[in-house]
Amino acid sequence: MLKNDQLAEWDRDNFFHPSTALGAFARGELDNRVVKTASGVFIEDREGNKLLDAFAGLYCVNVGYGRQDIAEAIADQARELAYYHSYVGHGTEASITLSKMILDRAPDNMSKVYFGLGGSDANETNVKLIWYYNNILDRPEKKKIISRWRGYHGSGLVTGSLTGLELFHKKFDLPVEQVIHTEAPYYFRRDDLDMSEEQFVAHCASELEAVIEREGADTIAAFIGEPVLGTGGIVPPPAGYWPAIQAVLKKHDILLIADEVVTGFGRLGSMFGSEHYGIEPDIITIAKGLTSAYAPLSGSIVSDKVWAVLEKGTDENGPIGHGWTYSAHPIGAAAGVANLKLLDELNLVSNAGEVGAYLNKSMAEALGEHANVGDIRGEGMLCAVEFVKDRDSRSFFDAADKIGPQIAAKLLEQDKVIARAMPQGDILGFAPPFCLTKEEADTVVAATARAVKAVLG
Ligand code: PLP
Repeated sequence: MLKNDQLAEWDRDNFFHPSTALGAFARGELDNRVVKTASGVFIEDREGNKLLDAFAGLYCVNVGYGRQDIAEAIADQARELAYYHSYVGHGTEASITLSKMILDRAPDNMSKVYFGLGGSDANETNVKLIWYYNNILDRPEKKKIISRWRGYHGSGLVTGSLTGLELFHKKFDLPVEQVIHTEAPYYFRRDDLDMSEEQFVAHCASELEAVIEREGADTIAAFIGEPVLGTGGIVPPPAGYWPAIQAVLKKHDILLIADEVVTGFGRLGSMFGSEHYGIEPDIITIAKGLTSAYAPLSGSIVSDKVWAVLEKGTDENGPIGHGWTYSAHPIGAAAGVANLKLLDELNLVSNAGEVGAYLNKSMAEALGEHANVGDIRGEGMLCAVEFVKDRDSRSFFDAADKIGPQIAAKLLEQDKVIARAMPQGDILGFAPPFCLTKEEADTVVAATARAVKAVLG
């Protein structure tokens, strides 16, 4: 086995890490961590540190780490058939079974699943399908996509554009011109503090109307949104938000993409966020929870309405000119089948709802009165604590103070608990595996309270 210092050196010299301050890492100013093994909600690194992962990797290891059923399904698949493509009607037992399992769980009006590898490529697929759809319907101008500020939809060219976070645009020449952003449903950060939640929802809907009016409905193809804003701050929508938005979209014949990469397969305590909030999407994006990240796999679930036009399009124009070598990769599909079975067998979706509610309630009891805690919010197994400089005026800390990252670092250092300092604002995010127990939730809450005390008093 390599000595850890040797591996650390190779890491700095050779490995281009995503979402990392590259210079600081290469110079050794930023620590690395080599993760070795994991079980349940704990990961272990090569130094022997055992850390409670209260963010499930990148909110993806939903069934928890070390599930042998999934590992065996992957190994069996690799032995029997590691790969075959899915072009021109080819498939495997795993990919066909998984499509059926997904459709059995998805909202009623869904028709087919297109498989990709990650959430970004699935959203790229969605945009292409929607452009194709409007060309087949002879509406070549209807192509723009509306997304929300603080939405997260990936980091490709179009998907990085859909993502409404500054860091993902700055210096990359994004967003591309077909993407437009509108108000985030972030009640806590509303401009006008006197606005009620109901008024704020009406404001979000009228902002959307204004964007559509400005651009022209005949130029707008679709609206994309996460049922609960994720990376933008873990923000559940205010009551009535989705019905109000959908009414506007329907009026203007604009398709709706529900990006359920985080919320799909149980994170909110319901199988889909669409079901949770009564959203009626035309396309649903899935990834993370589809395999609990045991293998890379994503999907675009296409509705009957969209599918009918795609069929017409290929009848008229030949096969759909869209495919990845690894679409429906058998190993990913086998992991997906085993993962969805495990979710059912262990009742993990209802555990996510129950223990998630407990985590949120306990967090509010522990930190709700703290002078620098402005908001504690969540839904299912998602929870966020947002820090403010002053509660009464709801003024925020300077980003340069890095309050969120400092608290996340303290949490790790003092109690070996991993939470995520969300990228925009001083927001500490929690998204543990669904198998979290109430005792483990207690550990997370107590450790968070200690970290907040250490940094803010
Ligand atoms: N959509 C949402 C809602 C996400 O949270 C993410 C990733 O966090 C993505 C899309 C992009 O997925 P990936 O990182 O697998 O490309």
